[in-house]
Amino acid sequence: MPSSGLMHRIVNRVAPKSWPDFVVKWLLFELAINLVNLTVERLVRPEAGFDPTSQILVTVIVSTPFLVFALAVMSHQYRLQCRLANLAATDLLTGLSNRGDFLERASMASVAGQGGALLLVDADHFKRINDTYGHAIGDLCLQAIAGRMRKLVRSGDIVGRFGGEEFAVFLPKATPDMARAVGERICEGVKIPVPKEGTEVQITLSVGATPVRAADSIEKMLTLADAALYRAKEMGRARIEFASIEGRAVF
Ligand code: GH3
Ligand code: MG
Ligand code: MG
Repeated sequence: MPSSGLMHRIVNRVAPKSWPDFVVKWLLFELAINLVNLTVERLVRPEAGFDPTSQILVTVIVSTPFLVFALAVMSHQYRLQCRLANLAATDLLTGLSNRGDFLERASMASVAGQGGALLLVDADHFKRINDTYGHAIGDLCLQAIAGRMRKLVRSGDIVGRFGGEEFAVFLPKATPDMARAVGERICEGVKIPVPKEGTEVQITLSVGATPVRAADSIEKMLTLADAALYRAKEMGRARIEFASIEGRAVF
């Protein structure tokens, strides 16, 4: 059996991605099968009477059900692969990238020569929200936070949920001023109505930020951002702090 990596690549390449693609691939396979069939026939039985039209007709009739079946299975397999890949990369509560996907995408951007800024974000006093209003409202808050962060970033930026009430944002090619502006708006947080209690919950967020130069290790930059986030918490929360190395600000 071919290795699963090889099968994955074959399915990706061959599987029809739409109905027109299905027809094109069926025709290409028919063409290939008929070419092989006619060539072999000429080589094996050169003396036999040669009637390509009837031979092609027979080949098409015999092969079509098998080809259609094989292409349908591959198409199904391809869609399944895409769905699984999507599930494996997504945080189910918020729809954001999960930690693994975020790190992979941010690292790819950094390796591709895109520096920028990395923000580590943590909701303030989130435990109180759960304790006061219940876990379901807590979940709604996490979804609202994710929605707000999505709105605040540009289309090429990467937003992920690292787990719990912690998020991360990678802003490729962002200047320090841009990173500060986005970070400060994230800190403002969200307001969620709680109709049962006739009130609304206000949550703020704290942010630790660090610049990322091209080819920097994202994991290493996260450690710096985490230290900055810790300082933001210590200095009263609902604020952004920037990473520093040996006491010197790096922004
Ligand atoms: P701090 O400002 O210091 O970050 O305080 P905090 O209360 O936000 O931090 P702490 O780590 O004490 O509590 C985090 C809480 O987040 C505890 C946990 O119940 C809650 N939490 C983690 N994941 C989820 C989730 O998926 N849904 C909900 N509703 N709550 C969650
Ligand atoms: Mg928190
Ligand atoms: Mg936390």
